[in-house]
Amino acid sequence: MDNMEKKLLIVDDDDTSRSLLRQVLGDYAHIYEAADGVEALAFLQRNPDTALVFLDFLMPRMDGMELLVRMRLSPKLHEIPVIMLSASPEDVNCRARVLGATRFVYKPYRTPLLRQMADELLSLPKEETEIAPGSLDAFVFSRSQALDSGIIALELQDDGSIGTLYFTPTYAMLCGYSAREYAALAAAGADLSTTIPKEHFDSFRMSVGMLAEEKMPMAFYVHVQRQDRQMQTLSCLGVFFTMNGERPVVCLIVDTQDLETEHGAAGSGEKLDRLTGIPSRETFFHAARRFFDEHSEEKCVLVTFDIDRFKVINDVYGTQVGDSILVQLAAATAREIVGKGVCGRIGGDVFAFCVKEEDFDLETILQSQRFLSDNLGLAYNLVIHNGVYPVADPKADVSTMCDRANLARSTVKGNYTKRYAYYDEPMRAEILAEQEILNDMQKALESGAFVLYLQPIYSLNFEKPVGAEALVRWNHPEKGIIEPGRFISLFEHNRFITNLDHYMWELACRYLADRRDRGLAQIPISVNVSRINLFQPDLVSDLTEILQKYDLTPALLRLEITETAYMDDPTQLVTASAKLRKAGFKVYVDDFGSGYSSLHMLKDIPLDVLKLDMRFLADMEPSSRAATVLLGVIRIAQNLGMITVAEGVETQFQLEFLRSAGCDNIQGFYYAKPMPIDEFELFLDTSPVI
Ligand code: C2E
Ligand code: MG
Ligand code: MG
Repeated sequence: MDNMEKKLLIVDDDDTSRSLLRQVLGDYAHIYEAADGVEALAFLQRNPDTALVFLDFLMPRMDGMELLVRMRLSPKLHEIPVIMLSASPEDVNCRARVLGATRFVYKPYRTPLLRQMADELLSLPKEETEIAPGSLDAFVFSRSQALDSGIIALELQDDGSIGTLYFTPTYAMLCGYSAREYAALAAAGADLSTTIPKEHFDSFRMSVGMLAEEKMPMAFYVHVQRQDRQMQTLSCLGVFFTMNGERPVVCLIVDTQDLETEHGAAGSGEKLDRLTGIPSRETFFHAARRFFDEHSEEKCVLVTFDIDRFKVINDVYGTQVGDSILVQLAAATAREIVGKGVCGRIGGDVFAFCVKEEDFDLETILQSQRFLSDNLGLAYNLVIHNGVYPVADPKADVSTMCDRANLARSTVKGNYTKRYAYYDEPMRAEILAEQEILNDMQKALESGAFVLYLQPIYSLNFEKPVGAEALVRWNHPEKGIIEPGRFISLFEHNRFITNLDHYMWELACRYLADRRDRGLAQIPISVNVSRINLFQPDLVSDLTEILQKYDLTPALLRLEITETAYMDDPTQLVTASAKLRKAGFKVYVDDFGSGYSSLHMLKDIPLDVLKLDMRFLADMEPSSRAATVLLGVIRIAQNLGMITVAEGVETQFQLEFLRSAGCDNIQGFYYAKPMPIDEFELFLDTSPVI
């Protein structure tokens, strides 16, 4: 491939620096930029064919070092050559070198050199840029600069034993030796692999063996017994070399950043979450396990909680604010739990804790969460949802317990007023039933188990049917007829509704065409358009395609969109409905009054028909406030030139009231229930269409 066609990625948080580099490399055709490691990693994952990366050392979010580690650990990215950019040679510690940064460049850049390096790396055949096993050279180079990193180099002997080749003072310190002792140990060529206790040595040898076999950098834990006999767990990155191209060497680089918090865990050797300082997921799982073992005779609860729409907080206020909220929330939780149980951060914004039931005071927890929200000083109401699992079997997996608490939490997700839910058996049964529905849906669509029901719409003026609404029913082979209330919102959630709606529109059109072909009177059918479909760019073309297929005009197919779609995205709804009306469709507002934006919607969007749901106005008395509101709404609709349909009309009383209020049409059990096509035909025989 021509060099000009290769992809180059510049990763630097300083945009002046990036544009400088871009200038230097100006005539390479495909130069991409990323402002930090996170962005860069996402780009590389999408573009594993990137030919060369220029990588800055110090960056926010994910620095150059971490990106390099991640690249070298990724089978897809480990071969990409990296030119490390750095403000000072001191920055460049041994880790970058052993990790296979291909070249180093110090700022300020000497442009001809940089150019030459890029040209050279790009023109090398792939094998030669391969980073795999390093050389002694690389190791020696690193030695002088690496004194402050915790590193140990181990030699793998032919007989399978492991000898120490080299270790840094920091590594010795991690094993509990002082600086003076280090000098003596180093001079004597001491073997520090002996600090690994016998019971851990086999697994250590296995990890090292694997590393030597894979020849890829690998992360693992090393357990050492310090001089003071305390156990220390070191989280390490292992890198494989061959010395002089033959003697296998393994270099372990300790992640010292983690260690700082480990010491905070009072030498427990377990990991704390770096951001919040409370136990991380794994540590929590272990600690909770111990807690349940110790209290196996008592009743306990496990709670998980998270912040509603945490992503929005990060987007609006920045990750720093987001981080600070997490830290405060963790601290508040730890304060509540201390001495009673254990807590931890088990995911991005998900926390968990477990306590004995007698120590569990949900109200106090909720209060402390509310207090935090009130005192954040943000113009944002922090909403936290809790899922409570009263532990039934203390021997069960902690992760299973968390799953149950999460399930309970998922039932109140997005709920503004309810901040917690308990896990119980009915909930479990309901969730299982939902799961069954999700398992069966595709097969149901293919086998024609979704059937079209029609509910007549009746004109109060003409006293005759003037239309019908298409409503889906699931004719399940084992469970019989399932009502849409059981599955529509699930299908909206997983977007299967796109397929189902499409299918229903087609059934409605097929029936309309069939009536026409049989020379029967035409009756408009309104179909439901889910909010998910409403915002699809090809909605209009999809609908017109179906109409064309059956040689129908849009006049007979009416579209019902639910009022709550306005809350999702008012601007998009304005655009979508305008497009539909332009294409000749009549657009109905369904369930008018069920959302919070009813009047806004009327004000902003020209629509044809207003469907009022009588079920929102249960037990209405003629003189009640509800009646006054209903009258007002009908009047507004009339003034806007809209037709009104009252839905859910069940009684003669409602019907008479609606007639007197000037409502045009009604749809409801009082007149007729939704029915399958053959019944609908019989119905029309007795109540002919106008
Ligand atoms: P909707 O579009 O508002 O449909 C009217 C619902 O009110 C229907 O419920 C109907 O059976 C019910 N209904 C009509 N008259 C009365 C009455 O007098 N009393 C009572 N209590 N109920 C009455 P259904 O068929 O169970 O459908 C429920 C909802 O499911 C629909 O509300 C609609 O939002 C959705 N839905 C149904 N079919 C489809 C579909 O094919 N696609 C989409 N996206 N949604 C659908
Ligand atoms: Mg409807
Ligand atoms: Mg409705």
